[in-house]
Amino acid sequence: MLGRLLCTTATMGLRASSASNRIMVGGSTIDISINSEQFDLGQTALLDWVTRSAQAVTAYFGRFPVAHARVHITVSQHGRVSHGVSFGQGGAHCRISVGQHATLADLYNDWELTHEMIHFGFPSVEDRHHWIEEGIATYVEPIARASVGILSAEQVWGEMVRDMPQGLPQAGDLGLDHTHTWGRTYWGGALFCLMADVEIRKRTGNSKGLQDALRAINRAGGTIEADWPLERAFQIGDKASDGGTLITLYGQMSSKPVEVDLGHLWAQLGVRSDGQGVALDDQAPLAAIRSGICGFNKRRE
Ligand SMILES: [Zn+2]
Repeated sequence: MLGRLLCTTATMGLRASSASNRIMVGGSTIDISINSEQFDLGQTALLDWVTRSAQAVTAYFGRFPVAHARVHITVSQHGRVSHGVSFGQGGAHCRISVGQHATLADLYNDWELTHEMIHFGFPSVEDRHHWIEEGIATYVEPIARASVGILSAEQVWGEMVRDMPQGLPQAGDLGLDHTHTWGRTYWGGALFCLMADVEIRKRTGNSKGLQDALRAINRAGGTIEADWPLERAFQIGDKASDGGTLITLYGQMSSKPVEVDLGHLWAQLGVRSDGQGVALDDQAPLAAIRSGICGFNKRRE
């Protein structure tokens, strides 16, 4: 979850006994504030989790998306990993809670810290466009974790088939810029990203994808620390990919509910669900595009 408007509270809660640890990932430095005595797990396990999450984000963006970031880990009495929130003002940083009794498996299976770090790689935009910030983080997070071997392609597509319907417009929907429900913000935004990714790949013979657009936006200074008009980001992304998909899709989906036939899209991509999991069909018309989105470790820059 992105909460840059709460940035003035960002340093509250820091404990005097918290130790600061520095790791280097993807050419960047990440300072981690943590009081490891609060957790059943040792400090090494927690630092490994931060490193692993940062490596997933680095794999997707081709580098860690900001030169310096801070991660403040707090303890909670419930659950595993929760309450992630990211900030741009005062430098890219996020706060996230870890359960006192969290296990190694809980940290290995966590998606939230990766989600928060993906927020670092896109500029802060007006509140009405919040769906693109959450949509990118929601869509990219499993792909990023797959790119470092944490998730399989079947798991990524299985989650998309399960969760993407939450992003479809409901009765009374006024388009992404004007419908600020949870479903439309997170999964409506993710649906926009999926549609953009598929369209860019169709139009470029699968040589470019949303990843190229997002890398270019980030390279141009588009980070959580910068306030940008959304159109500026999309123009840079379009120029680096197929020349127009992001702006065109935004024009279609920003102020109108756009129905998407997800069943048809999954069939085209060769994602077959049986209710338990998914099987991937390499003979499907868009199977190569599916593999391009999430099927191999893409190049590093
Ligand atoms: Zn978020």
